[in-house]
Amino acid sequence: MHEDARQRDAADPLADYRERFILPEGVIYLDGNSLGALPRATPDRLAEVVRGEWGEGLIRSWNSAGWIDLPQRVGAKIAPLIGAEPEEVIACDSTSVNLFKLIAGALSLKPGRKVVLSEPGNFPTDLYMIDGLEKQGLAQRRLAPRNELVGALDDDVAVLLLTHAHYKTGELFDMAALTRAAHDAGALVLWDLSHSCGAYPVDLNGCGADFAVGCGYKYLCGGPGAPAFAYVARRHQQALRQPLTGWMGHSAPFEFSDDYSPASGVDQMLCGTPPILGLAALEVGVDLVTQIGVERLYAKSQALSEFFRHCLSELGVSLDVVSPTDLAQRGSQLSFRHRDAFALCQALIARGVIGDFRDPDILRLGFAPAYLRFADMAEAARHLAEVLDSGEWRRAEFSERAAVT
Ligand SMILES: *Cc1c(COP(=O)(O)O)cnc(C)c1O
Repeated sequence: MHEDARQRDAADPLADYRERFILPEGVIYLDGNSLGALPRATPDRLAEVVRGEWGEGLIRSWNSAGWIDLPQRVGAKIAPLIGAEPEEVIACDSTSVNLFKLIAGALSLKPGRKVVLSEPGNFPTDLYMIDGLEKQGLAQRRLAPRNELVGALDDDVAVLLLTHAHYKTGELFDMAALTRAAHDAGALVLWDLSHSCGAYPVDLNGCGADFAVGCGYKYLCGGPGAPAFAYVARRHQQALRQPLTGWMGHSAPFEFSDDYSPASGVDQMLCGTPPILGLAALEVGVDLVTQIGVERLYAKSQALSEFFRHCLSELGVSLDVVSPTDLAQRGSQLSFRHRDAFALCQALIARGVIGDFRDPDILRLGFAPAYLRFADMAEAARHLAEVLDSGEWRRAEFSERAAVT
């Protein structure tokens, strides 16, 4: 198993990219799907922005350092990763806030329809954002299990909101087929790409998607709380109206007019002043992902997760896999169901193998392919086997919960 891993690492065309990240000694990081690792170039870039652009340039940097265009510039760089045109993507706000703007915006394009359809067990913020709009009287939430979604698309549905790769299981939706089904029913589609952007090749325009949002701090390695992004298909940009009509989304913010008039294009998605430090860090991550190439990242993440499963079976570990075993149906993670998944996860973290736990019984291991080695898979599998065999996860200290799991 370890020799096999060594050979795979030697043959891995992405092996050298590990050096482009700062990773702590002795840690096997299987949680890049929750917070991406730190690119080696980020601290220097941030120091440059802080000391030079902010410290020296002061307010002049809005123009001289191009701060004012940073949301568009980073958005344009994200666009090719998700099959969009540069003018269709903007980096701004959080995924949650972008969901709010785009669900409401999509509803405004479908007068007479109020239903926002999603699946039970979708990422909480996606469902809560629909709830919020429902409480305002603007939306009506409808949930249907994945195999009943198409049947639930009737004349009342304005928007179908789905997360492309499920956060808990990694299961993928067929983006092309569901987008078509929604359009056939007269509805619009909003895709949450938080668990696919940067790890899986996405083709929004090829699928005819309408809207999308995605996260900057997972596979894009933008850092904790990095700005998210929003995609608006060009054909909707003229008519779309989003409700957070802040001054940065105005057509001429520096005319300081009393009345709002939306900027043209995707710029209308902006609300307040862009967070420059966050965007600068995100840009480094996006540049790195772009340089490695999303197709190659996807191929490697598949190889890593399959090799991990192979190692587990060599070690005689049998855990209940809740992720699809069919590679074509899963994103970049493997999730296992275990009654004591929380304690298992903590015992692994104590050994330097960092994955995460998702309530109530899921141990989630992510295979962020830019910085993981096949040797890490063999080691992580060995640790998992030892933790299970020894029963060390039963120790009381591994059952104590912190605020973030
Ligand atoms: C991580 C994630 C988010 C994050 O939303 P925030 O507003 O950044 O907290 C949203 N949706 C999905 C599916 C996610 O996985």
